[in-house]
Order: sequence, then C-alpha cells, then structure tokens
Amino acid sequence: MSNYYKVQLKKDISLYVHIPFCDHKCIYCDFYSIINLENKRYFLSSLKREISYFKKILEPERYVTTIFFGGGTPSLMGPGFIHDILNIIHRNFEVSDKVEITLETNPGTVNKEVLAQYRESGINRLSIGVQSFHDKDLEFLTRIHTSTTATQTVNYAAEAGFENINVDLIFNLPGQTKNEWLENLQRVVSLPVTHVSAYSLILERGTILNKMVLDGKVKIGDEDYDAELYETTIDYLTSNNFIQYEISNFCKSGYECEHNLAYWNHKDYLGLGPSAHSFVNGKRWWNFSSLKRYISEIEKKENAIRGEEKLTSKELLEEFVMLALRSKGLDLTKLKSKFGASWYESKKSIFQKLKNNGLLIWNNDFIKFTPKGYSLCDEILLKIL
Ligand code: SF4
Repeated sequence: MSNYYKVQLKKDISLYVHIPFCDHKCIYCDFYSIINLENKRYFLSSLKREISYFKKILEPERYVTTIFFGGGTPSLMGPGFIHDILNIIHRNFEVSDKVEITLETNPGTVNKEVLAQYRESGINRLSIGVQSFHDKDLEFLTRIHTSTTATQTVNYAAEAGFENINVDLIFNLPGQTKNEWLENLQRVVSLPVTHVSAYSLILERGTILNKMVLDGKVKIGDEDYDAELYETTIDYLTSNNFIQYEISNFCKSGYECEHNLAYWNHKDYLGLGPSAHSFVNGKRWWNFSSLKRYISEIEKKENAIRGEEKLTSKELLEEFVMLALRSKGLDLTKLKSKFGASWYESKKSIFQKLKNNGLLIWNNDFIKFTPKGYSLCDEILLKIL
C-alpha cells in the first residue's frame, strides 16, 4: 500500500521523547532533568512499555510523522540507546518514510564520529544548545562548553552529514551588549545552520538564576532593551535569508521544524518519558516529573499519567488562534470550519484596528503578524482573546 493511502486510513501523530539526563544542572533551567544516570536501563524498559501501552489505546491507528528527542541532554545517551528507542517506535507504529527525527544535543557531549553514528541511526535533524558564542555568557549560564566547542560542534554536525541543523540562542543575558548579541547572530549566519531558535532569557521560578535576580545579585535588561534585542534579531536574520515562521523561530526556506509546526497547528502529539505532555483528540495529559515515579507508575499501570484535562470548545478555539498567530498565521477558512464563524465575526473590528496600526497583515482569508506585531505578540493576544 502506498504511503498516500496509509495516511488516509491512519491519523498523523508526532512523538516527543523526554530524556531526563544531564551531566549537570544549568542555573536558568527548569526542565525536568537529573544528573544521576544509574536508572538509564530501567528508563529504557519503561519507555518500551509506555510505547506499547499507547499503541494499544490510541484510536484510530497512528502514523508517525515526526519524532523529537528532547530533555535533558539526549545526546548523553549515545547512539546505541537512541537507536534502541527508534526500533521500539518502529515496531509499534507505522512511521512515515519522510519522518523528521530531531535530537537535542549540547556542545561538549558529542564528537564528529558520534554525530555520524546518530545520523546513521536515523536522526536527520540536530538541535544544538549553543545559547551564546561568548565565553563569558556561557560561564555565567554554567554551560559546560566554550564558544570554540560550540562552533566546532556545528561544523562537525555538517561534516557528519546533517543538513538540517538548529542552533538555540538566548538574548538579554546579564551584561550582554547589543553588539555582543549581534556578533552571536553574525556567527550563526556564517555557520552551516538552517534553523535558529532565539529566546529571551526567562526567569523561571525555582531556578538558581531567579533567586540571584531576586536577591539583587544579578540584573537583567528591562523590557525595552529586551524588545530592542528582539527587533535586532528579526532584522538581522530576515535580511540574511532566514524566514521568521514563529515568534522565536527562524529558518532557511524549506527548513521549518515539522515537529514544532505540529504543535502550533494543533495536531496530535504524544509525549513519552517523565514530565512529557500529550495532546490527542482534544485531550491533554502530562506525566510525573520524576524518573523514579515514572518507572514505578509504568510498572503498575503501563502509563505514568499524572493529570489530564479535556479542553472546552472555547479553550480549544483560543489555543488554536494563539498558536496560529504566534507562528505562521491564522487560516480563517480552517478556523471557521473547525469552530464556526461567530467568534471571527465578533473580532473583526479588533483585527481591522490592528491592521490599521501596522500590526497585522489581513489578506482575504488569512491573518498574520507583521514583524512589529510579533514583537507585541503577548499584548495583542490579550486584546484578541
Ligand atoms: S543542559 Fe539543558 S536541560 Fe540540562 S540543565 Fe542545562 S539547560 Fe537544562
């Protein structure tokens, strides 16, 4: 049977696999991760049982279009471990021939040979947590790599056969000048990189960095400075062959991250591993954020679901609009066919005002933020929703 018919009979799904291991904890990070690798084998067997469980209960049958190994630091696991997980997925699900498989990696955890082995095991997209090309920033963030290692890792990835390479960068770091940020953008553009995720530094509750800021030990730039750096990002990357396709994401033509697009287009995704979130058939659920609890729950009941919610149609609509506007834009025909026309009719005058103020592009059946609109995204979404 050709793939075309398989897609017709089965529903697409994206898989996210959370690998909870890191070699240390960075001061700004609130992702669930641990530095003790002793339960690595139990984690793999639990993951296997979790995948079989969802294969049994997911209706209709699923066709996997993207797989994303996030964390934590998935590249710490080694190619053999990731290969085993891919085998388990292939044994349980129909996987598209064109599946996008992303591995998050940190400079300093891989060399060229290891990257080539990841490529051979089926990984076809690499996401590299560079964050900055300035050593003082990397030291501040307690990253294990240097600027030189970061550049080397990107080059190694290309030499190992990766064509689709993302680099994560963070702006508005303490003491970061506009010129230093611009140098980061210049460096990334000079490398064989096809995708850039650029986020402003976020102070997450419970992190060491947040405490440092609350105690007055560290100062970060205010909102105006943050907006200035963000606008610099858009200007620089879009004038260097990158397309902005989401508020914080830029890519060369044809290199959008399919996995992220699935989230933003409100498609179904299944999260596996501790702390992973899922969204399937309008229902959302999330796993326990503890490896030990994850393993024991899987032993007891084959899943590690900690909580779940069924979204109301109003919540679904608002989430659909928000995700679409933050990314490629709102397809009004799709909106009306999914949720009816009344919400859109009630918001037309707001859209008109935003368009008059240069914040939106509104063409026939499509609404999209302008670059100025993207920079005021949260404020505008509050008004609309
Ligand atoms: S390497 Fe990434 S996931 Fe691990 S602690 Fe640092 S920021 Fe968090």
